[in-house]
Amino acid sequence: MAIAKGASAQSTMSRVSKPHVVVIGGGAGGATAARYIARDGNGQVDVTLVDANKTYQPCFFSNHYLAGDRDFASLDHSYTTLEREFGIQVVQDTATGIDRDAQKINLQKGILRYDILVLAPGIDFVEGSVNGWSLADQNQMPHAYKGGEQVRRLKSQIEAIPKGGIFAIVAPPGFYRCPPGPYERVCVVANMFKAINPTAKIIIADPKPVFSKMGLFREAWKKYYKGMIDMNSDVDMNTFSVDPQAMTISVDGETIKVDACNIIPAQKAGQIAHTAGIVEDGWAPVRAQDMRSRLDENIYVLGDAAAQGDMPKSAFSANSQAKVCANAILHRLTGAALGPSEFQNTCWSLLAENDSVKIGATYKATSEKIARVDGFVSRRRESAELRKNTYEESLDWYSSITADMFGP
Ligand SMILES: Cc1cc2nc3c(=O)[nH]c(=O)nc-3n(C[C@H](O)[C@H](O)[C@H](O)COP(=O)(O)OP(=O)(O)OC[C@H]3O[C@@H](n4cnc5c(N)ncnc54)[C@H](O)[C@@H]3O)c2cc1C
Repeated sequence: MAIAKGASAQSTMSRVSKPHVVVIGGGAGGATAARYIARDGNGQVDVTLVDANKTYQPCFFSNHYLAGDRDFASLDHSYTTLEREFGIQVVQDTATGIDRDAQKINLQKGILRYDILVLAPGIDFVEGSVNGWSLADQNQMPHAYKGGEQVRRLKSQIEAIPKGGIFAIVAPPGFYRCPPGPYERVCVVANMFKAINPTAKIIIADPKPVFSKMGLFREAWKKYYKGMIDMNSDVDMNTFSVDPQAMTISVDGETIKVDACNIIPAQKAGQIAHTAGIVEDGWAPVRAQDMRSRLDENIYVLGDAAAQGDMPKSAFSANSQAKVCANAILHRLTGAALGPSEFQNTCWSLLAENDSVKIGATYKATSEKIARVDGFVSRRRESAELRKNTYEESLDWYSSITADMFGP
């Protein structure tokens, strides 16, 4: 039962006998889970959704904002429909601790009790993964990898680059949110430069030797942005460093003055998953059939924070996992029929105006992990018409998936 400070006595009394599911994190995974549990629970389950922010500003499609394709306000999603139409209690607060034995959550402004806890806190950054940079430097060198104001800041810094100036982007290693995201960002920045600053250059420092949709991105860089991009792959991050005050990067012993710099650090599960003690090797291991934590049977973990197997860390994946998880929770709490543990994902990337590519797959649960079944990826040298269709498909996807998460 929810006992948040400030919750009305009436709402407390009317909810007293029902199982209580608390969802921490109102993003792609958490909002979907809250909505489907409340909607399909037919009033048999109380659902509380906790998010640190009043509205949700996604990372997905933030590159379309950088590209000038959409305005900032269009990336703002409210929880009002979840509250009014689905009866979800939305609490704007930050979870600071979880007492797993007592099934209690400490918020900054109160305490919540849960029967089932769904954690969907997204990512946090690994401090020290880029020499010379820490979160305290995010205003000088933004990450812009959690949506919101950081993205707006990055855009204004890029727009302010002087004629012939340099933009640097540091890509992350290992498992991270949206594998093609940094390279799509390179495309949209290069495209912006072509229009307003054609002699400006982009330096990429990437600790990886290969990356998602590499052939497609390289083809686009050659076709649209020839001579603008200096790609440094397989960079040794032990010797790489940045200086946010001096606005320099040092790669392979050479120090370069830059005009704007996007640092995308190494990543780990959102901090609250670590605080809860359900993380191993940076991410929260879950059972593939229902996203239940392998370390606590009353906690489920969704989206980027989960170590689930083959699915990339994407909004589409989080949304797909949330539906399987919601169904499993309702089966457990109310005896609802159990559906199949099948998942899907597609990630679109914008290369230039009306030119998008995609990669996607279907997945199923095995005893070991969420395993890839089959997939597809756009091909090189596709027709302009096909690429335009793919771009339009991506716009439709954004509208439909955000409606699936936040209503109506
Ligand atoms: C540039 C870029 C482009 C992308 N493009 C795509 C794309 O085209 N397609 C796609 O599918 N994905 C894309 N993604 C990835 C996508 O944004 C993430 O994978 C997705 O948002 C993950 O969902 P999530 O629910 O795990 O986390 P999030 O959506 O980040 O939600 C986490 C929520 O938890 C809240 N939270 C965290 N900790 C606490 C706490 N302690 N207390 C209260 N609230 C808390 C946060 O405020 C946040 O609202 C992109 C990402 C980036 C960076």
